[in-house]
Amino acid sequence: FVELKDINKSFDRNTVLNNMNLSVEKGEFITFLGPSGCGKSTLLRIIAGLTSAEEGSISIDGRNVTSLSPKEREVGMVFQSYALFPNMNVFDNIAFGLKMNKTEKTEISKRVSRMIELVGLKGKEKAYPHELSGGQQQRVALARSIVVEPKVLLLDEPLSALDAQIRKNLQQLLRTIQQDLGMTMILVTHDQEEAMVVSDRIFILNEGEMVQSGHPHDLYMNPNSEFVARFIGNYN
Ligand code: ATP
Ligand code: MG
Repeated sequence: FVELKDINKSFDRNTVLNNMNLSVEKGEFITFLGPSGCGKSTLLRIIAGLTSAEEGSISIDGRNVTSLSPKEREVGMVFQSYALFPNMNVFDNIAFGLKMNKTEKTEISKRVSRMIELVGLKGKEKAYPHELSGGQQQRVALARSIVVEPKVLLLDEPLSALDAQIRKNLQQLLRTIQQDLGMTMILVTHDQEEAMVVSDRIFILNEGEMVQSGHPHDLYMNPNSEFVARFIGNYN
């Protein structure tokens, strides 16, 4: 469903992604896991179309999107900082993309209400971002990205600014949304526990290379290198 072929990326003379290939199935929840600076965000930005690669191609849903803009790729993105519109209430923040697409008013109302329910913010429709907790703001950011029904949702450390309990709740929420909507999700994290909990498959990156990929349990049981073993935590 999402296919990357021979992606190479460098900044100046510094190679950040070295011949990256990967393939994600429709409805799959995959995670890029790796140490700081290994290229996770760069890879995600290349899939989103926010950064271009020097070489290689990307296709989404059978369409070559290599030279298309983020909007044309029909991807959604959620970052660590929520970047909500401060002067709009929760309802309007979530409705924004639909209004831009000139969706009909009753349809907007229906879809936004359903989203608000899905992310557990019922009763907060009229609240402004500054009246919400960090976790609530990130729920709004999630709803805002999902309501326009992107083909793929890209998440760059969306939970890392939140404290542990709220992070756990939102991990569950992500998983629930992904299963309820059958949405394809790609998450970037350097939190191995988070990766183990939410992912169908984990891709381990190190220094711009894919070191190993597989089901969380398989990686844990059969790491192919000391690096993976250390990173996943199955190492004494
Ligand atoms: P973190 O876990 O800290 O977010 P990351 O795995 O997301 O790290 P990237 O942000 O993808 O890492 O960065 C990979 C490498 O590319 C780093 O060495 C970084 O310094 C470099 N890099 C990223 N963006 C740029 C840029 N715009 N210009 C120059 N170098 C960059
Ligand atoms: Mg990053």
